[in-house]
Amino acid sequence: MVTALLEVADLRVEFPVGRRRRLPAVDGVDLTVKQGEILGLVGESGCGKSTLARTLVGLQAPSAGLIRLGGKDVPARRPAALRKRIQLVFQDPGSSLDPRQTVREALQAPLRVHKLTDRAGEEKRVRELLNLVELSERLLDAKPGRLSGGQRQRVAIARALAVEPDILIADEAVSALDASATGSVLNLLTDLRTSLGLTVVFISHDLSVVRSLCDRVAVMYLGRVVETGSVEEVFTRPRHPYLRALLASIPRIGEPLVPPPLEGDEPPSILTLPTGCRFTTRCPLAEQICREQEPILKAIGPGAVACHLV
Ligand code: SF4
Repeated sequence: MVTALLEVADLRVEFPVGRRRRLPAVDGVDLTVKQGEILGLVGESGCGKSTLARTLVGLQAPSAGLIRLGGKDVPARRPAALRKRIQLVFQDPGSSLDPRQTVREALQAPLRVHKLTDRAGEEKRVRELLNLVELSERLLDAKPGRLSGGQRQRVAIARALAVEPDILIADEAVSALDASATGSVLNLLTDLRTSLGLTVVFISHDLSVVRSLCDRVAVMYLGRVVETGSVEEVFTRPRHPYLRALLASIPRIGEPLVPPPLEGDEPPSILTLPTGCRFTTRCPLAEQICREQEPILKAIGPGAVACHLV
């Protein structure tokens, strides 16, 4: 049986707005990531998926809730040994890589910070990492400015892999790439899952890419997960009305995720959520109960859905 590597329960991240108000960017997320799977996390811009990613890697402190890794609670202040177990790859490798550092120096840095090898073994490990992401060793002395977008993203992935993490979180990691580089980075992630047994949380606004890469999907709307399931289930038998609307407007690779016209064109502000279901103002199926009670994410069949009418 595939076991849960990462468990998230009722996770909340709030930011202060002015003196009295709080913005609940992540508002009670429940999520499980299984060992060795690629989980897609999708939703419109502003739904909280990047805040969730930053919280999972420890860059953002949670306001409440629980994160468990390998069956153990992750404390708010993570020791270095725990921090390196979940690594983040950002959307724009151009800004996440230091333009003054060569590829060699970028890969040496995490090895030195975490004291993972002595100086004698460092060069060998740097070359191994480069081979792992299928980059030529001739690029070792190149700086990011000389690399293509796809090559820079491979260096960013190699740098994340240097500390041998259990989980790689890729936050819109192919959004800034052209179609050819996107395809090759997706193939690389699939290969790394096979060769290293790597577990990946792949955050994207692009449902086409998620469908081609992931095993399971979690759909977020305004800070909450509203549906989870296998890729096959979610894409062929979507149950939440929001997911159905998203799939009805599935864009081509590289285009932004925009739902078709719903009852309201825009999602409400997360500061002024409607009572009951937060999708009520846009849902064509909304009934009285939807305006009175917030649905919780319930296991239904092979997945889970947060909707009164499913
Ligand atoms: Fe629509 Fe009601 Fe389901 Fe919310 S609970 S998604 S408003 S049908």
